[in-house]
Amino acid sequence: MALIVHKYGGTSMGSTERIRNVAKRVAKWVRAGHQMVVVPSAMSGETNRLLGLAKEVAPEKPGPAYYRELDQLAATGEQVSVGLLAIALQAEGIDAVSYCGWQVPIRTNSAFTKARIESIDDQRIRADLAAGKVVIITGFQGVDAHGNVTTLGRGGSDTSAVAVAAAIKADECLIYTDVDGVYTTDPRVVPEARRLQRISFEEMLEMASMGSKVLQIRSVEFAGKYRVPMRVLSSFTPWDIPIEEEAHSGTLITFEEGQSMEQAVVSGIAFNRDEAKVSVLGVPDKPGIAAQILGAVADANIDVDVIIQNVGKDGRTDFSFTVHRNDLARALDVLRTQVVPALGASDVVGDARICKVSVVGIGMRSHVGVASRMFRCLAAEGINIQMISTSEIKISVVIDEKYMELAVRALHREFDLDQPEDTLQGA
Ligand code: ADP
Ligand code: ASP
Ligand code: MG
Repeated sequence: MALIVHKYGGTSMGSTERIRNVAKRVAKWVRAGHQMVVVPSAMSGETNRLLGLAKEVAPEKPGPAYYRELDQLAATGEQVSVGLLAIALQAEGIDAVSYCGWQVPIRTNSAFTKARIESIDDQRIRADLAAGKVVIITGFQGVDAHGNVTTLGRGGSDTSAVAVAAAIKADECLIYTDVDGVYTTDPRVVPEARRLQRISFEEMLEMASMGSKVLQIRSVEFAGKYRVPMRVLSSFTPWDIPIEEEAHSGTLITFEEGQSMEQAVVSGIAFNRDEAKVSVLGVPDKPGIAAQILGAVADANIDVDVIIQNVGKDGRTDFSFTVHRNDLARALDVLRTQVVPALGASDVVGDARICKVSVVGIGMRSHVGVASRMFRCLAAEGINIQMISTSEIKISVVIDEKYMELAVRALHREFDLDQPEDTLQGA
């Protein structure tokens, strides 16, 4: 008997029929003798619908008072899901009880719309499990120290599930979704993408942080910090497939760096269309400039990603960085009103038509020349690189958004990711 957490995403919970299927699958695990906690997302499209209603009612008004109400609103999607799933399980003859984040409670800070989990009380969960119940807990939501409902950011149910698994020391956290595992790149963009049987925790962390939306990055951080065994698998297999087969399907996020992974130089390609480039032109080329520009941006609570400063000429230089697209207008405003006059810079320009493409692989540690191979491949396709950033196991480039798919496909071929894993292992 094991203690297992299942997480079901929006598509998997997308209709009452699918919810009945989830219940049947969970019931199968219960009948096999496992203790089960289930963390579902809102039914597909529901979170978008709710947030859309807010926009219909009134234009967005950034600030904590407004964001608090967005969370109050958006969290209802998950409340519907847990109630329906508990009813479906009871209809299967399984004892089940559902909770919202605040009832557990899952405590978070007060950063509305992107709250961070601080602690999870496991008492209620443990008591119900001991009483033989399936415990169903809302994904995506928590409660702050003042009793306000909070949400964990888009895709946050993954994080809820892994955090609950860590809190109750579950044997495994299974993330059921609408693809059958983690692929070399988004299979919806590159049909040749291949499912990975396993991926190292470090690579998954880079893939998620570079834009692969299959897992929310914070869920991977939690899994790493608390060593939660985690697997991504399909919720669309027939619910009655043998449990052993199901338990070994999909992609395992592993903490060991296995042999086959060492041989592949690149394990996956991530991309992200959510960023925009900001350039401050003609700034004086002297110490303290970067601090002044980025300090003003940080003070406005705007996160900065890739940064480059050009070589100066005649005592002047250009300074560029990327921010989230939603923050572009605010970043430009801060720079125009505060930084340009203070520095005597000549102008600030923004470009939202960019994207970031990243190749990820722990194999880069033992292979040289990965960057030049990547740049040659992009050059051969006529794609101009605007910015570059690297870490030990990843290389990212910022390019024109219109070349994104071309770049991802070309790199996928260049690094032999179209090939079956067996061929790679034998290579
Ligand atoms: P859920 O609602 O189950 O949380 P998401 O839509 O959040 O599902 O995540 C699953 C989706 O992630 C897939 O449908 C796929 O399009 C996308 N995705 C992006 N990158 C990858 C990848 N490397 N491997 C698998 N899926 C990916
Ligand atoms: N329902 C939330 C969202 O759409 C959380 C999740 O699906 O993980 O972002
Ligand atoms: Mg998701």
